[in-house]
Amino acid sequence: MSDADVAAEVSLDRIQRRLDAIWEIGRTDDGGVTRLAYSDEETAAIEYVLGELDERFTVRTDSIGNVFADTDPAADRAVYLGSHLDSVFNGGRLDGALGVVMALEAIEVALAVGEPPVSPTLAVLRAEESTRFGQWAIGSRGALGQLTVEDFSATDQSSVPLWQAMQDQNLQPRDLDRPTIDLDRIACFLETHIEQGRVLDEQDEHVGVVTSIRAPVRYRVTVEGDSDHSGATPMGMRRDAIAGAAEMITTVERVGDTAAGSGDLVATVGDITADGGAINKVCGRVTFPIDVRSTDRSHRDEVEATLLDRLEAVADRRDLDLDLSLVDRSDPVELDPSTTGTLASVADDLAVPYRRLPSGGGHDAMNFQHRGIPTGMLFVPSVDGVSHNPNEATPDDAIRDATTVLTHALLGDPTAGESPIAEPESND
Ligand SMILES: [Zn+2]
Repeated sequence: MSDADVAAEVSLDRIQRRLDAIWEIGRTDDGGVTRLAYSDEETAAIEYVLGELDERFTVRTDSIGNVFADTDPAADRAVYLGSHLDSVFNGGRLDGALGVVMALEAIEVALAVGEPPVSPTLAVLRAEESTRFGQWAIGSRGALGQLTVEDFSATDQSSVPLWQAMQDQNLQPRDLDRPTIDLDRIACFLETHIEQGRVLDEQDEHVGVVTSIRAPVRYRVTVEGDSDHSGATPMGMRRDAIAGAAEMITTVERVGDTAAGSGDLVATVGDITADGGAINKVCGRVTFPIDVRSTDRSHRDEVEATLLDRLEAVADRRDLDLDLSLVDRSDPVELDPSTTGTLASVADDLAVPYRRLPSGGGHDAMNFQHRGIPTGMLFVPSVDGVSHNPNEATPDDAIRDATTVLTHALLGDPTAGESPIAEPESND
């Protein structure tokens, strides 16, 4: 098998045809897609993918609806690869779906041109997006035995609990604390995803080899002062919650900016609500979220402590009441260096323009690595960094290159740490 065989077999037409077919399921008027977790649309998309699998695949659906399609069900070890098919409200055509379709393409090409030493298993994980139930990665957490009873009572916008939504899709979840898959069988987990940022696109790189996944610590901040008349209340007598919140928000940006100079970190205030605000009022109550992420937990925790101190100081100086409630604290994870090394080494051998980078968003892959399963992740560029939006796009040549890298990884042991592509034989 030569490099040329793989590149010739990877079919962009087949990939785009499948993406188009999945796009039709839940497609919105402006070209986006709404295929929520445990909706009929998500189920239909999974059924479409199952319909694309030929007799080489043996399919198993677990009790929460994840699909695992083995190419050698008798094998002791398998490389699991895939992603998710659910979406946010009016999301894009590529988020999740591309990772499933590319995994399928890589498996098919690997089987066509050679013999993968560790048999591949296509993984379609349910309900990755938190849009519907406020819980993310339900499928992968369930597969790994990490769901709790509280997760199952989470409700959607119509007060339908998760367990009910699962039953509506003919699923009967059971033994929540037990993995639905044999974890010892998983040699490694591989996921491909759109970057959802603009790093690769701006550098004209086709592939990102993800080194680590940033995890957030999140707060909901409530600032309280006095609600007063804007004309009748002298400046010196105000407790202005909006002005205080504004100072706090720029403080978050400044602290984040400084901290980014000494280690991986991003700090964001992405929303603000002024309760009962009006043009003729001094606003008495403001809420906003803070999201701080890093691949380095100790750096993130230091920045968190600094931030909370600074916000308290602003509140004290302005005589405002401050409530900081913790919403989320997740652990960042470094992906398996050997598996990451294999992916980078294949990209090197193929002269694909790539870079190593951290993932800013959480992915199913993160849960596999947290469970101790060697995990590797590839990114493809998001044009202009657009994601969770109908305008998601990735250049064709990047899709082709990333699929080729993934296929070559399957043709060796993906956890070997080096490319399986043989040195060209000399003609002497
Ligand atoms: Zn996704």
